[in-house]
Amino acid sequence: MLLPIIGLEIHVRLKTKSKIFCACPNVPEDTPINTAICPVCTGQPGALPAVNDQAIRLGVRTGLALGCTIPNTAHFDRKNYFYPDLPKGYQISQYDFPICINGMMMIEDRRIGITRAHLEEDAAKNIHDGGSGKTLVDFNRAGNPLLEIVTEPDFRSPAEAKLFLQELQAILRAIGASDADMEKGYMRCDANVSLLEIDENGQRLGSGLNPKIEIKNLNSFRAVERALMYEIERQRGVYEKGEIPQGATRGWDENKGETFEQRLKETSADYRYFPEPDLPPLDLTSIREEEKDLPELPSEKRFRFMDEYGFSAEDAKFFVSDEAWSAFAEQVMSELKEWKEMKHPAKLAGGWMTSKYTGLLAQKHLSLSDSKITPENFAELLKLIDDGLINSANAQKLLALMIDTGSDPSHLLEEHHLGQNEDPEVLTKTVAMIIQQNEDQVKQVKAGKLGVIKWFVGGVMKATEGRANPEKAEAEVRKQLGV
Ligand code: ADP
Ligand code: ZN
Ligand code: MG
Repeated sequence: MLLPIIGLEIHVRLKTKSKIFCACPNVPEDTPINTAICPVCTGQPGALPAVNDQAIRLGVRTGLALGCTIPNTAHFDRKNYFYPDLPKGYQISQYDFPICINGMMMIEDRRIGITRAHLEEDAAKNIHDGGSGKTLVDFNRAGNPLLEIVTEPDFRSPAEAKLFLQELQAILRAIGASDADMEKGYMRCDANVSLLEIDENGQRLGSGLNPKIEIKNLNSFRAVERALMYEIERQRGVYEKGEIPQGATRGWDENKGETFEQRLKETSADYRYFPEPDLPPLDLTSIREEEKDLPELPSEKRFRFMDEYGFSAEDAKFFVSDEAWSAFAEQVMSELKEWKEMKHPAKLAGGWMTSKYTGLLAQKHLSLSDSKITPENFAELLKLIDDGLINSANAQKLLALMIDTGSDPSHLLEEHHLGQNEDPEVLTKTVAMIIQQNEDQVKQVKAGKLGVIKWFVGGVMKATEGRANPEKAEAEVRKQLGV
């Protein structure tokens, strides 16, 4: 059997005000080209870098959130290579003394080791101009602060790798280290994958790992998952021919859904790393201390949502994956605290938020923040449902009206006649009318087909436009039919 072995290298753009080695602003991709540049980030001779303290702090914070050790000292190194988007001929990065080492993250019940995380500068961006056939360079991105996070080869499936990236994104956002949008290039991923031969008992055949393929520059969660799935199958094919794939770097073609060969793998020796002579070593002892109080992390928040409110693991996961939803859910639950008589508030609230409310929003192509519903009104709707004043079908109609108008549910309930009709006389008359009009079905019930009772209840609900209480309607039907 062949077992996938996967490790990730993730570049995260840190959310600093300025670039990592100069005072130019750290601007978004849509900024007019070459408007956030200076002699340092364009690599002019004689220009000297100076370290941005905020970049180090955010890097250290991320390391702490990932359970890393922050060494007392670290330093920068030059990674030498030529490319038109790198006019200095080297990138300032960190080689043997990074700011974070030996961390880990739990993905469900699996431990994923974090080898290291180091700071480096981003390169400029080449723009291939179809009109002139020329390649132009935009330096706005050059010198933006990146944190490269490297994991151990601990993933065993593309799905695990994707879950890890989603959790990492949530952590980076929670601690304010990065917006971490993959679409905007604030988080980019290189995925490494090889296959390992194991026997039926999961024991390795042979020693060590096989050479890995590195898939470069994946820019969405989906691309990471798809590219890995494709590459695993491709490598499987190579093994089936009796060969072992050799280590290489491949690209990902999103449209074709295929990886393609780029170059054979370079090694660190190719880069001739050496310590950056223009920057002093970093003393991390005080920063490590000052950054150690982190805000609540997503894993802690999920646990609290289950523990404090009683949400299911699945609902907690949904809420915590989105800042707006988790704030909304917390406010709804704090409103519900006052209504002590509600038996399973988290079950009712969780179900109505994660399925019915999200479903209606999706239908209307709205996000939570577009909706006019306040947490107070949502909690009130739940109370109406819990008190049996409205049935589920009508509560959904009411919810749709609330999204559009933002009005309070009790008011809408009256205005649109959506409440359960509790008038026993109306129920008695309605049931009598339906029984009178449907002799065949009455005969069936009398002949012992008790399932037909539900058919009568359906009729009552229809005749009352959903306003009857189904349990009371069934009791009345049974009473009048004498069964
Ligand atoms: P390199 O020196 O080629 O950069 P590293 O040992 O630094 O290789 O690993 C880079 C990434 O590749 C890490 O995320 C690591 O987990 C992963 N990796 C290393 N070896 C393998 C392998 N045999 N199969 C899959 N992934 C691997
Ligand atoms: Zn600059
Ligand atoms: Mg490496």
